[in-house]
Amino acid sequence: MSRASQVFEFNTHELPRRAGEMKEYQLDLAILEPVGIALVAVPAGDVIEVDLRLESVTEGVLLSAQIFAIAKGECIRCLDPVEIEVERKIQELYRYEPTSDKGGKRGKKAAKIEEDDLASDEELFLDGSVMDLEIPIRDAIVLDLPANPLCSKGCLGLCPDCGEKWERLPQDHAHEAIDARWAGLQGLDFKNSPE
Ligand SMILES: [Zn+2]
Ligand SMILES: [Zn+2]
Repeated sequence: MSRASQVFEFNTHELPRRAGEMKEYQLDLAILEPVGIALVAVPAGDVIEVDLRLESVTEGVLLSAQIFAIAKGECIRCLDPVEIEVERKIQELYRYEPTSDKGGKRGKKAAKIEEDDLASDEELFLDGSVMDLEIPIRDAIVLDLPANPLCSKGCLGLCPDCGEKWERLPQDHAHEAIDARWAGLQGLDFKNSPE
């Protein structure tokens, strides 16, 4: 397991494996790799704050967490820096590792019931007492980020010719060069043009 992934590992050894037991933690995960999508992500070196509540249940450990982070990127229209506050709640069940003597029919039936309740895409398992928080945190952040980040909803972007922001330009802003080029094309004599 890479160091970047280890940041997301949380050891639940303090939580007694008795249904009804509960522990709360506040974690600051200093991430080593960006978490997000191509255009906007929580940068490496930044912190993802996690308010974590763990409850012992019969099948494993139920995690409820509130996630705070600030994703950074660029406005796709004007390239200004954009910061997006991410605030998400997640809940996941981490099952105790299936053991050969348990499992079987009983385990399968339990799994079905909880899938309805938690609507989780994939099953999560404790590795001994260690819980890997990476998948649920990554998913929660990615789902909260816009595919096309904007500095503001009405961002007008840049003039393609001078790169200036439309916002700062007068309404009748235009580039003479465009008109001149078209005018030139009209009167072009191809025979006389240099190779
Ligand atoms: Zn913008
Ligand atoms: Zn311009």
